[in-house]
Amino acid sequence: MPHALIAGGGLIGLLTARELRARGFDVTVVERGACGREASWAGGGILSPLHPWRFPDAVNALAGHSQALWPGLAETLRERTGIDPEYRTGGMIVIDDDDPAEVGAWVERQGVAATPLDRGQVTAMVPGLQPPAGHSWLLPDIASIRNPRLLRALIALAVGEGVTLRERTPVTGVAHAGGRAVGLDTTVGRIEADAVVICAGAWSKSLLSGLDAEPPGIRPVRGQMLAFAASPGLLERIVLTEGYYLIPRADGTVLAGSTVEDAGFDSTATHSGRAELFDAAARLLPPLAEAPVRAHWAGLRPGSDDGIPTIAPHPALAGLWINAGHFRNGIVTAPASAALTADLVAGRTPALDPTPYLWPPAAGVRATPGSG
Ligand SMILES: Cc1cc2nc3c(=O)[nH]c(=O)nc-3n(C[C@H](O)[C@H](O)[C@H](O)COP(=O)(O)OP(=O)(O)OC[C@H]3O[C@@H](n4cnc5c(N)ncnc54)[C@H](O)[C@@H]3O)c2cc1C
Repeated sequence: MPHALIAGGGLIGLLTARELRARGFDVTVVERGACGREASWAGGGILSPLHPWRFPDAVNALAGHSQALWPGLAETLRERTGIDPEYRTGGMIVIDDDDPAEVGAWVERQGVAATPLDRGQVTAMVPGLQPPAGHSWLLPDIASIRNPRLLRALIALAVGEGVTLRERTPVTGVAHAGGRAVGLDTTVGRIEADAVVICAGAWSKSLLSGLDAEPPGIRPVRGQMLAFAASPGLLERIVLTEGYYLIPRADGTVLAGSTVEDAGFDSTATHSGRAELFDAAARLLPPLAEAPVRAHWAGLRPGSDDGIPTIAPHPALAGLWINAGHFRNGIVTAPASAALTADLVAGRTPALDPTPYLWPPAAGVRATPGSG
């Protein structure tokens, strides 16, 4: 059985591991800390790009394919592990300044379910909401998932399916010989493999340096979140405005996100971030000001210039692939990204056209950002 090594045990690495296992690989995930504790844990779990019409078609293609996979994946996770990742389909209300004619044209072209709402309809759907000025849409099919539960369940499922996890094992580089990747070098020695996939999120670029091809420009972008211990029923659907969003959980918890900060690899949750999110949340839904803040945290998104991840073979080394750079959409796009990566590694024809996700310096072949 061919052996695949995955560097990085976030959502992207763990799902890629499962997909490779399903294609007949013996798979080991090599994780610096504990699996699933970085951006994938920190994320809000909205299973849609924010203002999807603003993203390139390449991102929406991954999101669309993944959205079809999420209900089955969530059910498999719940059934086989007993951990419910709380896949919820309450829909998302989007309030923004975008031209409604352009948004309407995008909605029509993509075949997405979306209904324009007036202010009265918005406040009837979310009692207590103080919507800012702007145009409102209801996207009724948008779901959410509860990240920490998702990751706990996925780790259990992957291990149960035979994926090996090597935690607390930092990767220091890709081992190669004769123009081919032969494994990963780690702080405790070399691990050999037939195929190597870099899924190290915001840290991916450094693992790909010095390998005869300029790595994709993946960089950390900090995001902070607040969790309010609100009463169940206060909020039943996601509300997204310019810059901020609220996400309800089944037990009444409301997440408020998120900051977008260039802070290097510093994942500290700051006083100013807390104040910014608290003020935005309380302005949007004033009863939240009375709810205790239960948690405040930060994570490092794997930022990329166009928001398009790189899902591709390395241009110079055989046996090496990357699946990273999902920026703000790494939860929603994870299932299709993992399936695409595994198809490329296994030499199968992928369901999705891989062209838009090619190694960026392979020059001009990535799709230009589409509408919005
Ligand atoms: C505040 C916030 C809110 C978000 N909200 C959403 C949302 O609502 N919807 C959505 O779709 N996306 C959202 N995202 C984005 C999403 O969380 C990320 O795009 C996604 O989690 C990236 O997954 P990943 O597996 O690539 O990265 P990570 O989860 O960061 O995993 C990378 C892993 O690689 C490991 N690693 C790094 N270096 C090494 C090394 N040298 N050796 C071994 N292991 C290493 C890390 O320890 C880590 O476990 C949000 C992100 C943040 C921060």
